[in-house]
Amino acid sequence: MRVLENYINGAWVKSSGTTLLDVKNPATGEVLAKVPLSTEGDVDAAVKAAQAAFPGWAATPVPVRARFLFKLKAIFDEHKEEIAAICTSEHGKTLSESRNDFGRGIENVEHAAGMPTLQMGQCLEGISTGIDSSTIRQPMGVFAAITPFNFPPMVPLWFIPYAIASGNTFVLKPSEQVPLTQRRIFELIDQIGLPPGVINLVNGGKDVVNAFCSNPGIAGVSFVGSTSIARHVYKACGESGKRVQALGGAKNFMLVMPDAEMDKSVANISESIYGCSGQRCLAGSVVLAVGDAYEKVKAALLAAAKAIVVGDGMKPGVTMGPVISASHKDKVLGYIEKGLAEGATLLLDGRHCKVEGLPHGNWVGPTIFENVKPGMVIATEEIFGPVVCLMKADTLDEAIEIANRSEYGNASSIYTSNGKSARTFASRSGAGMVGINIGVAAPMAFFPFGGAKQSFFGDAKAHGATALDFYTERKVVITRWF
Ligand code: NAD
Repeated sequence: MRVLENYINGAWVKSSGTTLLDVKNPATGEVLAKVPLSTEGDVDAAVKAAQAAFPGWAATPVPVRARFLFKLKAIFDEHKEEIAAICTSEHGKTLSESRNDFGRGIENVEHAAGMPTLQMGQCLEGISTGIDSSTIRQPMGVFAAITPFNFPPMVPLWFIPYAIASGNTFVLKPSEQVPLTQRRIFELIDQIGLPPGVINLVNGGKDVVNAFCSNPGIAGVSFVGSTSIARHVYKACGESGKRVQALGGAKNFMLVMPDAEMDKSVANISESIYGCSGQRCLAGSVVLAVGDAYEKVKAALLAAAKAIVVGDGMKPGVTMGPVISASHKDKVLGYIEKGLAEGATLLLDGRHCKVEGLPHGNWVGPTIFENVKPGMVIATEEIFGPVVCLMKADTLDEAIEIANRSEYGNASSIYTSNGKSARTFASRSGAGMVGINIGVAAPMAFFPFGGAKQSFFGDAKAHGATALDFYTERKVVITRWF
């Protein structure tokens, strides 16, 4: 069985970790490879390589650094289908979802290739007699990122392109559940001729994460994953004086007004809930219908959910894949049991979902709860599966108040034909990303990405203009010539 290696100083090297985990295809149960849980020593080796590469890379002219990203974009484009297939095989999402996943990642490479313009500072002549002032942006050293299982190609690409284009060097720890996509992406990175040590990869789990947080050679850490670990990484990096941005979990509310265009809205709502089997930090999780929207949404959503075809994401016609692992399936089923115990009613029950010929897949069918009350566990905790809660409110004010009670604030959406309702919602929602008649409020690469409240810890959000603030030191230079 293939055992994955780390990529350190421009070469594939064996991990010193002795614990190996299975990387499984979640649709078939087939073991695809073994991933090592690397050690603090492996992290140290990667950080030392990145530190050694830093002075030369930082001194490389910005347009020259950007040219590597043009090469990367070209090579990624050539391998889109291959990466999508690897992503589907280890994650389970449909091929079309995998293509979009990688496509969004590539958009970050494109955006970061504009680094010569993005990194420009400011200059003001004559702040006093004969004195000028300017700000310059400088890279800071070695940055690291820790990424989750749900977007294997995209999430690492929220960070790598900006970090290196701005002159830093980098170490990535992909999710140990989906390491194969980044393995192949790093083989492609290896082909663009970067100086050794500029980008490194260390496979592993929590020991690697903790080694990142404490390693004095790392200037900053990006984390994406569940809230409890995001909070832990934020605190640990704060204690060791690093820059940190930690993106956490979510519980996203979707408000539906009686004046919404019901057919188009419900199609979009269903896609938000069930896309990637509900394993998206932007997935709609609670549908909060206002007034007489409730019965219409309920009927249309039930029909849309029943039309979903569950199966192997590689197969044409399949519209929803499995969840990532057997233990995650148990967790999702546990939430369904909790919902029933709390008194909610199952309108559609996905617990007994089976796919012919694939007895070892982690199948959970589309699930809809109604009679859900605010405060129930299923209405407050992140389920991260194809399960939605239907709730009612009498007015927009009441709906906003219920949605804003959530401790999370990643995304929230409203469906309406009324501009005033949309504006009120955008202004008062406690979420960091708001959708108006859009169920997945995903900003593009050139806008910042990140939530609010317990969904985000830090100051500078991912990608967009804020990536530059995260990856550079803004130095002020005040000049007088005698
Ligand atoms: P996770 O928190 O289990 O894992 C994320 C990373 O943390 C992985 O690389 C993992 O190896 C590491 N990790 C796991 N346990 C750890 C521990 N005890 N100590 C230190 N590190 C540990 O998350 P996941 O299950 O891979 O991904 C799903 C979660 O990610 C969901 O909560 C989802 O909402 C969130 N997510 C958030 C965003 C966002 O933008 N806010 C985007 C994608 C996913």
